[in-house]
Amino acid sequence: MSTDGTFTYNGGKVDPGERQNLRYGISETYLGDPVRIPVTIINGEQPGPTVFLSAAAHGDELNGIEVVREVAHEWDLSDLAGTLVCLPVLNVPGFLAQQRYLPIYDRDLNRSFPGREDSTSAKRMAARIFDNFVAPCDFGIDFHTSTRGRTNMLHVRADMSNDAVARLAKAYGSNVIIDSEGSDGVLRTEATRVGIPTVTVEMGEAHRFQRGLIDDALAGVKSVFSEYELLETSAVRWPGWRTVIDDENEKTWIRADAGGIVDMHPERGSLVREGERICTLTNPFKDDNVAVDAPFTGLLVGILENPVVYPGNPLCHLVELEPKVRRVVEREQADRTT
Ligand SMILES: [Zn+2]
Repeated sequence: MSTDGTFTYNGGKVDPGERQNLRYGISETYLGDPVRIPVTIINGEQPGPTVFLSAAAHGDELNGIEVVREVAHEWDLSDLAGTLVCLPVLNVPGFLAQQRYLPIYDRDLNRSFPGREDSTSAKRMAARIFDNFVAPCDFGIDFHTSTRGRTNMLHVRADMSNDAVARLAKAYGSNVIIDSEGSDGVLRTEATRVGIPTVTVEMGEAHRFQRGLIDDALAGVKSVFSEYELLETSAVRWPGWRTVIDDENEKTWIRADAGGIVDMHPERGSLVREGERICTLTNPFKDDNVAVDAPFTGLLVGILENPVVYPGNPLCHLVELEPKVRRVVEREQADRTT
């Protein structure tokens, strides 16, 4: 941001009090036509932080697109103090093909940041996005869903050892935070590395619009805007309970020990007790079904949706809770069923 509050990118600028919808060229197709991403920039009349909201870095992850669209086009932003950079579809080629990766050599756009202008097609696209619309920001939120065939509770992924990132993650107000630095090339990792605290929000499944999760994600954005005083909303939300999971602890992924078809019993977000049946693995010929029981009492953060597995494929993400948190979750789930 310039000192007079103007937002500039290569090719244009947005003054305070102005809103701009643009389609920004990040590459070219085989026909030489531009590949352009939709961008909405809303520069508030009042000064404040510059924030990016992005989605669909994986082209088939749709929930976040609706979150970013609603903030940009349906929220009343007349009193906005700061600037919003809304990037609802980062991976346009993947989105058009309805697939996770760029359909060009199957590259992962979300392993290509911060990008480079003289490198691969994916890194060139990443550089155009990063240099113009991420680098000028003070912080950001990148929306994802689970990989195709799985679903998960809404959760925030953040490097909690970084205080600025931890503030943002907590302000979002989700029940579950997964703490990890993140891999090289991931938007949140690379933005955070250059001093733009960024978190990923993951929710639900690919290829779906899931209204409940979208509403929950929007409440998180509102809470963040309140924490950083972009909008005078009600308050920063406290979700009732919170658990921070260390991502290094991969043991929490329970994997199939047999190939077959999975009959999953509890729903995403359930608290399951030690010894409780999580799922049964069957196949068309065997009658000796394999039962998978919870090895400890925990929260089912993610589960398989596409029910076919090879041995070694993940079945569910089960997370142990501190006793205090567990009691709150127990009470909440008991209330829900009564
Ligand atoms: Zn993703």
